[in-house]
Amino acid sequence: MMKADLQKAFNKQINEELYSAYLYAAMVNYFEAANLKGFAAWMKAQVVEELNHASKFIAYLHERGADVKLAAIAEPAATWKSPLAAFEAAYRHECHISDCINKLYSAATKADDHAAASFLIWFINEQVEEEAAADEAVQQLKLAEGAPGAMFMLNREMGARQPTFPTTTSA
Ligand code: MG
Repeated sequence: MMKADLQKAFNKQINEELYSAYLYAAMVNYFEAANLKGFAAWMKAQVVEELNHASKFIAYLHERGADVKLAAIAEPAATWKSPLAAFEAAYRHECHISDCINKLYSAATKADDHAAASFLIWFINEQVEEEAAADEAVQQLKLAEGAPGAMFMLNREMGARQPTFPTTTSA
């Protein structure tokens, strides 16, 4: 049985993951409106991954016989001043999510819930990839800034991204 406080913290993380999907969906809209379909496709893959993260937390709470409470999702921004600004916001958001996951892991450990802590290891590793992917995009966009040809190429290259799916719930 999961302790009530930890259940509450896991439920809060479901909301964080769903907000992440919402934020990246807003970025899809922003890039589609700007005819940057490659960046939009990159963000679409991100939306799919975030929904998958939320689903993993929901499935885990079900598995533990814990309550799932779906709270309201906050409204994300609708526009950014440049593609670089949008990806910088995505990077900052992933750093925030890493912080959430780390705090959740600390809470699980503090509650002596080793099963919950073990479940979170996948997310700890996933956040390293999430931060790296967003940071790589930021660095490439910085190189392409002010050079329409480079931006055009980068948009096309980043559009090739596909969402990655975990093969198990724990690894
Ligand atoms: Mg996530």
